[in-house]
Amino acid sequence: MTRHADTLLTNARIHTVDDSTPRASVLAIANGTILAVGGDTVHEQYCGEHTEVRDMAGAFVMPGFVDVHNHHSLAGKADLFELTFPETASVELILEAVAEHAATLAPDAWVVGGSWGSTLVGELCRVSARTALDEAAGGRPVVLSDDSKHNRWVSSRTLKLAGIDTSTPDPESGEIVRDPTTGEPTGVLLEAAGVLAEHAVQANGGGITAQQQRDASAAAITTLHRYGVTAFQDAGVSVDIMRSLAELDGSGELAAWVVTSMLVNDPIFGFTPIGDELFGYGEKFRSTHHRPDFVKVFLDGVPPTRTAAFLEPYLPDDAHGACFHGAPTIPANELTTTLRSAAAAGLAAKVHCTGDASVRAVLDAVAVLRDEGYTETMFQVAHGQFVQQEDRPRFAELGVTADISPFLWTPGVIPAAIADVLPADRAAEMQPNRTLVDSGALVAGGTDWPVSPSPNIWEGIQGLVTRADPTGQHPGTLWEEQALTLAEAIAVFNRNGAVAMGLGEDTGSLTAGKSADFVVLDRDPFETPTNELIDTAVRETWFEGRNVFRCANPVRGSDDSALPSGNV
Ligand SMILES: [Zn+2]
Repeated sequence: MTRHADTLLTNARIHTVDDSTPRASVLAIANGTILAVGGDTVHEQYCGEHTEVRDMAGAFVMPGFVDVHNHHSLAGKADLFELTFPETASVELILEAVAEHAATLAPDAWVVGGSWGSTLVGELCRVSARTALDEAAGGRPVVLSDDSKHNRWVSSRTLKLAGIDTSTPDPESGEIVRDPTTGEPTGVLLEAAGVLAEHAVQANGGGITAQQQRDASAAAITTLHRYGVTAFQDAGVSVDIMRSLAELDGSGELAAWVVTSMLVNDPIFGFTPIGDELFGYGEKFRSTHHRPDFVKVFLDGVPPTRTAAFLEPYLPDDAHGACFHGAPTIPANELTTTLRSAAAAGLAAKVHCTGDASVRAVLDAVAVLRDEGYTETMFQVAHGQFVQQEDRPRFAELGVTADISPFLWTPGVIPAAIADVLPADRAAEMQPNRTLVDSGALVAGGTDWPVSPSPNIWEGIQGLVTRADPTGQHPGTLWEEQALTLAEAIAVFNRNGAVAMGLGEDTGSLTAGKSADFVVLDRDPFETPTNELIDTAVRETWFEGRNVFRCANPVRGSDDSALPSGNV
């Protein structure tokens, strides 16, 4: 006997992202799972006495979005507890924001926030800028992150609490930027140097409580639901973040599939512990919806601060000379050892690479491990916007996922900062997505939120399709021949992401047997001009057959009362 559906969506325009049934009009759900997808026969077969039938009046339905790279907890924390200003803010505006915020705080309280544009780095690398920051903050300790979250600008008080002075050596993989004549720290801390400041925050009452940590996660997931995201991979977690996720799941409040990536090394967050000790906590905090299945390696930094590792030199500058091309944070043999021991422990790996030398190092290491018999282990190159031509086919050959960040790579602040440090022909060749997709590589999309200020997936999709700035602020296109089609770009942000995270059997397409994770949109994106995709609004988000977000305005033409009650 056929099981009847709890809920039947009928008369919908369903884009399944499942090639066996690309389009459908009826979706049958029971117990949080998709029973069937199809047309009138599905309706007849699965409609029973107690089935709630909902006429969607032609509304567009597709799988919930999968974000393969975000930092949800940092985003939630920033939203709830930190000073925020736009990455386009001038130094003057930032100082005003700091002053306004500081005025509301106790005399010793921390000012933590962001994000300043990477293009400001030259202006901030001056003792006079730090003095101005001290004044704005009324002498309080200040830590402000840049738009990549890799670099910090801090006040004199923070330098003192972090124990940084003229005689402090640069930490490995980091730089305390100093005044060229006096050697005095300017207040700009690049990459791993910022960790010193983060530790000072933790050690001096600037951290958050366990309850605040849970609130940060929950708030971030509420925001993600507004954008239709029902699964995501946090690209770098601490014990506290994993504990929060497990606790939220334990009390039935984790309404998303969450894969976490445990830090092998930590050049930017200042989390403790990391490495083996952190991995030991993974299993402890595994739950139905929280899967600590990845390790995260930072193999380099970011191009604007010349911490990305390239095969060919950066544009010459005074500090680095003409031959400098950067180097990976970990030597090749050590990377292979690290990935091997993770694989042996059953852990997949996400490796941050922004320069082509780092990308090549990962591909070389994976080639060794595949030969050794690690044929199933999942590997992701995160960002990987610069890939040498001969390395492009290797993603497909070696089964390495490209975790791409289209939010960051349309004309805008970050590409402008990259163009300042690389020869023009190289800066112009970012994100070879068309080539990767055509070669058969798995290409999955990440927002990198809050590095990208908004987790609006349509912003990323529009960028993939048009290669232009989806917000319309920055003119031109970036390597237009690497554009994807709309259907490909949508799959990048659901099915492909799910496969890349090890959730391919669970979610990512509207397929019988998978979790009933889907969104109802306010329009048919396939009938929307590509430069307006960013305006696509999510009307409803459903996770495991439950309505977890609903926009105040009902779907055009639908009967609002048809929604199951108590589910909103
Ligand atoms: Zn990231």
